Amino acid sequence: MRKKIVAGNWKMNNDYNEGVSLFSEIVNMVRDEKKGDQIAVICAPFIHLNSLAQLSSGVVKIGAQNCHQNESGAYTGEISAKMIKSTGAEYVIIGHSERRQYFAENNQLLAEKTVTALQNNLVPIFCIGETLDERNNGSYFNVIESQLEEGVFGLSAEDFAKVVLAYEPVWAIGTGLTATPEQAQDIHAFIRSKVEAKYGVNAADDTTILYGGSCNAKNAPELFAQADIDGGLIGGASLKSRDFTDIVKALN
Ligand code: PGA
Repeated sequence: MRKKIVAGNWKMNNDYNEGVSLFSEIVNMVRDEKKGDQIAVICAPFIHLNSLAQLSSGVVKIGAQNCHQNESGAYTGEISAKMIKSTGAEYVIIGHSERRQYFAENNQLLAEKTVTALQNNLVPIFCIGETLDERNNGSYFNVIESQLEEGVFGLSAEDFAKVVLAYEPVWAIGTGLTATPEQAQDIHAFIRSKVEAKYGVNAADDTTILYGGSCNAKNAPELFAQADIDGGLIGGASLKSRDFTDIVKALN
């Protein structure tokens, strides 16, 4: 059985005190309202990770939003997967479209980051998705296939089984435009078929594939009702405790 996950992505929001107070609210609400097998994660800026891990009481898991591809060394200003793991965080987002776009992260680099995350026992939430141009010119299936092939299909079956995938159409991120449940389901089914072709039917069945892009408390139930959508990666709506909790509750 694949895991059902709602992961918040706070991006570069919340100073230290704001983060602690929002997270405390989220833990209290999610504790009261989450069902047993639903997994809630908050991916926060690095400065929050250790404090949030201590406040989480296991109710909400903690993740980072990026890690460096190397284990350690002279990389001023960077944060390693081992450092993230040592805070108590368990997840790390790899290849978010904002990292691809603003920090020129390509599939090869992201493949290295994924390996490093796995070597440090972090669960990578590996993001893929097409831009508006790629959606409009019809190349989106090819784009997604290359992101998978170059980003994660180099992993052994054993390692791939630990990865969570997130489909995030770039045109839907932070824009208020959501993929329709049918559009999202189409791509999720395509992704699962590629996983099946590479790793087999059981692996495909067990792979958690999240949807991200203007997912909110209102549209989450319909998105999560799709056969191949196993939860969400939530930006804006993860900054509000009520909205985030309602999205967690929408997991089926
Ligand atoms: P959004 O962001 O929910 O604000 O569209 C999603 C994401 O970037 O992960």
